[in-house]
Amino acid sequence: MKAIGIVGFKKSGKTALAAAMARELSNKHYRVAVIKHSSEPLNHGRTDTGKFMLEVPEVALITSTHMEIIWKGSWDLKQVIPFFSADFLILEGFKSLKYFPKILCLRDDSEKKLLSDGLELFTCGRDTSLKERKVIDYLMTEEKDIKEMTELIEQKSFLLPDANCGKCGYENCYSLAQAIIKGKESVQKCSYEQEYISIKVNGKKVELNQFMAKLYQSLLRGMLAPLKDIGPLDKAAIDIKANLSDSDQ
Ligand code: SF4
Repeated sequence: MKAIGIVGFKKSGKTALAAAMARELSNKHYRVAVIKHSSEPLNHGRTDTGKFMLEVPEVALITSTHMEIIWKGSWDLKQVIPFFSADFLILEGFKSLKYFPKILCLRDDSEKKLLSDGLELFTCGRDTSLKERKVIDYLMTEEKDIKEMTELIEQKSFLLPDANCGKCGYENCYSLAQAIIKGKESVQKCSYEQEYISIKVNGKKVELNQFMAKLYQSLLRGMLAPLKDIGPLDKAAIDIKANLSDSDQ
């Protein structure tokens, strides 16, 4: 899965750009997902969902075309990404994360300095004078520019694991990400293999394919994330004692 971050300050056009790029990529028959970061609390107001959210930590809404699950708690992007199986992940917000490339959405000359962390593929904005003065590379209001930006995303987006293991020879994922952006390295340099979940039955390790590993991981996360005082879940050790014989006795 590849990822691109879209960052910028309020009213810089991030959402409009994310939607336009999602449309372009989907038109090319890629499977695209969007994850948006918000500093505002989730508010479903006085809807039925909003009323349930006040009472319980888990709420789901099922319609004839969509499904929505709301889990209360503090989640980070790495915990959420495994739920997705897209070709391209568009990440709106997430300014401070440093393991995928970014597009900077600029409203004026001063913002590039504030937003730049060495992971930007290019800059864009809505103000034609910024383009004329070469402050930004692309105009997000121009169809032609959207197409060019999308082509760059297809070629250059990537997602590193943020495991910071050092196996690539770089100090952390951010350093390799910067080297990839500069064209000095490729994403294949990352040799980290994520173990989604490890299960032993009576001391013997059970071999799981990636689909099953992700499925078990998602189920356990869904069960455990709402619980309090159980510590971090990123390297959780869980003891399960089970009677799995056919008999109910
Ligand atoms: S090998 Fe991969 S996970 Fe480890 S530091 Fe390098 S980029 Fe990060």
